[in-house]
Amino acid sequence: MSSLPQRMLVAIRSLWSRRHGAGGRPTAVLREAEARFGQLFEQAAVGVAHVDAGQGRLLQVNRRFCDIVGYTAQELRQMQALDMLHADEVEGDKELMRRMAVGELKELHLERRLRCKSGELVWVDIHVCVLSEGEEGVRLLSLVQDASDRYLLRQLRSDGVRHLRSVIQRLPLGLAMVETGGRFAYWNDEFLRLAGHGSRWPSMDWQSWWGAMEGDPQKVQRMQRRLEAERSRPRSEDPTAGALKPEEYELRGRDGVRRCIMVGGLLLDEGCLLILQDQSQYKLAEEEIHRLAFYDPLTGLPNRRLLVDRLQQCLGSSRRRLRCGAVLLLDADNFKSLNDSLGLEKGDALLRQIGQRLVQLWGETVTISRYGGDDFVMLFEDLGADSVQAAAHLEGEIQRMRAALREPFSVVGQSCRVTFSVGINIFGDQDMGSDEVLRGAEMAMYQAKGQGRNTLQFFDPELQAVLRARTAMEQEMHEGLAQSQFVLHYQPQVERGRIVGAEGLLRWKHPRRGFISPNAFIPLAEETGLIQPLGEWVLNEACRQLQAWSRLPQMQEMVLAVNVSARQFHMDQFVDQVLQAMNAHGVNPYRLKLELTESLLLSDMDDTAAKMAQLKAYGVGFALDDFGTGYSSLVYLKRLPLDQLKIDSSFVRDVLSDANDAAIARTIVALGTSLGLQVMAEGVETEAQRRFLEVHQCHAWQGFLSSPPVPVERFEALVQLAAQQPMPQTWGRSQDLGGVQ
Ligand code: C2E
Ligand code: MG
Ligand code: MG
Repeated sequence: MSSLPQRMLVAIRSLWSRRHGAGGRPTAVLREAEARFGQLFEQAAVGVAHVDAGQGRLLQVNRRFCDIVGYTAQELRQMQALDMLHADEVEGDKELMRRMAVGELKELHLERRLRCKSGELVWVDIHVCVLSEGEEGVRLLSLVQDASDRYLLRQLRSDGVRHLRSVIQRLPLGLAMVETGGRFAYWNDEFLRLAGHGSRWPSMDWQSWWGAMEGDPQKVQRMQRRLEAERSRPRSEDPTAGALKPEEYELRGRDGVRRCIMVGGLLLDEGCLLILQDQSQYKLAEEEIHRLAFYDPLTGLPNRRLLVDRLQQCLGSSRRRLRCGAVLLLDADNFKSLNDSLGLEKGDALLRQIGQRLVQLWGETVTISRYGGDDFVMLFEDLGADSVQAAAHLEGEIQRMRAALREPFSVVGQSCRVTFSVGINIFGDQDMGSDEVLRGAEMAMYQAKGQGRNTLQFFDPELQAVLRARTAMEQEMHEGLAQSQFVLHYQPQVERGRIVGAEGLLRWKHPRRGFISPNAFIPLAEETGLIQPLGEWVLNEACRQLQAWSRLPQMQEMVLAVNVSARQFHMDQFVDQVLQAMNAHGVNPYRLKLELTESLLLSDMDDTAAKMAQLKAYGVGFALDDFGTGYSSLVYLKRLPLDQLKIDSSFVRDVLSDANDAAIARTIVALGTSLGLQVMAEGVETEAQRRFLEVHQCHAWQGFLSSPPVPVERFEALVQLAAQQPMPQTWGRSQDLGGVQ
């Protein structure tokens, strides 16, 4: 009983009882009590009201009471005590008043809103007690204290807390407060969703909850240990102490679903704030990314990347453990024509079925991958230490596979049979890369195809040696380019007895093996993509040479032809490459001629036509090399801006002895001439061949008869010589010109 209203109540009561205890006689004591009561009543810093409990009327109010509610004392005396209450509270308070009136309640403490005369509501604290119980009924004394400020403060605080709570509720994190004793004191909705556990929860304590969520007892203990370790770290010394680093767990929620959840926490004085973060979406996204990156969308089988990954691991472990493994490449025979006749959709369905049969056969024991197109590659691991036994075992497996694939496939109601060629490469403790192993299987598969399809072929060591040599050569070519080991040799191109230009032919001056013929390295450069830098080098070198010739009077008119391979030509940047080379050396485009092959023209007619037209517009010339050896088609002869046809040397060689070759050579000349193209014969070695061609209106030629391809200074000397002595037979045949023929 220490607050101000309560102390006042005591004082007023005692004064009142003294006043009434005097029995109505006006004694000095009574007067003094009267006076003090009046003073206290009137001057009190709290509102005081004297109320008739039975009738609910206000009998007397002090000044402060009037101030609080804004009515005069007179007005208030006309009112009921409950008139000023907020409508929500009238009924309840009527009942309280009744109970006080019948003596059931002696004292009350209420927090109420009173409606002031102005209509505003004011929050007040009300202390009510029974002042007297006599014939006139029960009289109450109410002390009323303005509590607006305090209420406002409380309101602000509770708004803040409510706001914070609603934020916490909506956080995408599961939060729960676990008291030191293990009881859950608070949790948000996300926590319930992720980790609410059956109907027993949240009455569960922390330990049983964690045990129910994480089935693995070891992990349960691990979390316990982490918590204890964290608790024992002195927080004053280490600012990170008290924070449980998030760790991934697979927890089972009350819906029975296992979810991947990051569990972290913060140790606080009052317990631990658990923080759960659902990783399921990330996991799903991660799995999807993994699926897209490592699986073939058509068959759902591992793709080439995953295969290579597993093969690399397998090669490592085979080497360490001296075990054999094998790669088996399965290629559907004639799939292209099957695909063409069935249509793409059915072709896809067929590939899916092949994949399914392979999976039925080996399941998870073998990595079955779709390698690309109609190729499937199987990786067999751990086939024992002996390669012969491994091969025998594989043959058995292949018999089983053959049997499984022999049954006709039913593709959208259509039955079809497929045969397969199989290439196998067994590996063991040798130091081989995945590339080499796969290439070996590929070579074996092509050998199998060469042997009449539907056969199987093991990759043999001889092939392997070839493969190794190719790999070494690829590496050496890289080095050769960097160390300027490549040069151009020049073979004269003759027209009506005059050297009008040259064909630049690439030579590799290998530091150990001497000059290497382009036939030995161009195909490999094409396969490996090295043709791109190599071709670019040739173009630049040719342009540099043309520029140098432009300053020599006898060389100024020379046209230089260079060979362009298909892969180089079809690169996006090819046209730019040529233009840049010409620009860099300030070359007259009419002096440059590009020799293309028929196969190049065939592969993408539109791209070819567009690129040729672009360069032609600058003046660059085009020759069609090795004409007659490819799938000649008159269509592209007409459509493409060609200047020259080169009769392949194979027809020229026997032009005098083979009537067919002679006829072909004559036809090519007639065809070229009728299309307005110049015709040049390649590989002219004898005067008789030259004369035959001349008789048949082919006046341009190239061949050993004039000179083999030679270094530039020899070529320049030859041009000089030819200017004085128009007798091709004598131009350089007696000298060793040092070229590769
Ligand atoms: P190609 O363009 O048809 O070049 C003609 C080939 O015939 C040259 O072989 C040349 O030395 C040879 N030859 C010239 N006259 C005679 C002769 O009278 N009799 C015989 N039997 N052969 C003769 P080479 O230099 O070994 O070039 C072979 C092929 O390599 C070229 O055939 C060309 O397709 C390719 N090649 C050469 N240089 C390059 C290049 O810079 N880039 C590209 N992509 N390919 C090139
Ligand atoms: Mg050529
Ligand atoms: Mg040729």
